[in-house]
Amino acid sequence: MHELSITQSVVDEVRSRAGERRVHRVRLEVGALTAVVPSSMLFCFDLVTAGTVLEGAALDIDVTPGRAACRSCGVSFDLPDPVLLCACGSADVSVLAGRELKIVSMEVG
Ligand SMILES: [Zn+2]
Repeated sequence: MHELSITQSVVDEVRSRAGERRVHRVRLEVGALTAVVPSSMLFCFDLVTAGTVLEGAALDIDVTPGRAACRSCGVSFDLPDPVLLCACGSADVSVLAGRELKIVSMEVG
């Protein structure tokens, strides 16, 4: 379950920013191509925040869609999953969006 290590690094990052302050809410933007399952991430979040300043905090996950551009036919298209294949049959595509995982905001105090 790679969500555990990903969630752990997110929580580590939030803790280093928050210091001793209590964290009430964290909002993440997760690209559809990261293959992170939001429900697994929520479960892991409860585990890794236990006993920290994040304990009981809410986690909001916004899944951002993937986008790719085909180098063979020039078309840009939505990418719902990590299969990098254009409708024209070419796998020579570049990913424009969907691999990001970032902390968008956090509520402390
Ligand atoms: Zn194409």
